[in-house]
Amino acid sequence: MIAVLRLGHRIGRDKRITTHVALVARAFGADKIIIETQDKQIEKNIRSISERFGGKFEIETGIDRKKLIKKWKGIIVHLTMYGQRFDEAITKIDKNKDILIIIGAEKVPPEIYQVSDYNISVGNQPHSEVAALALFLDRFTNGKWTEKQFKGKIEILPCDNGKKVVSVEE
Ligand code: SAM
Repeated sequence: MIAVLRLGHRIGRDKRITTHVALVARAFGADKIIIETQDKQIEKNIRSISERFGGKFEIETGIDRKKLIKKWKGIIVHLTMYGQRFDEAITKIDKNKDILIIIGAEKVPPEIYQVSDYNISVGNQPHSEVAALALFLDRFTNGKWTEKQFKGKIEILPCDNGKKVVSVEE
């Protein structure tokens, strides 16, 4: 299980970026996104994408991060520009265990650095939770996310010009 915990989502202001975080998590191999703040609209949007494009991606919002972290049995990774280099850190993570990947929005509270098994940077420049998550998942899955079969109602066929979309009959 690869789960992503999105901290500090502000309804309205972060709607677009949190939606992108969820879409990247789904497309790049995570199984679930957990958002601290309750946001029924994001839940609805992400479930609608999964319904149409397939896969078994879960979304939960309004989750108490302290309780979640306390009962999490697997590895906790916090993505932060202050952390250790991701290419080195990824080789140390036990891939047989569940992993919770924590990403922030604004300032991340110090306790997150302390409870995490690994504080990992994707380069030491400030950029974006969307980019950090995408690159981390790519390396963590060894690029295997590209082979994932979603088996959705809609399937996009790669083509060099135009759009090829097929509706798959149930
Ligand atoms: N100023 C915030 C802080 O000090 O934690 C960072 C805000 S940044 C816009 C939002 C999130 O993007 C961070 O919490 C982190 O998860 C992720 N992020 C940004 N740059 C990163 C980097 N170089 N490596 C890993 N994660 C990064």
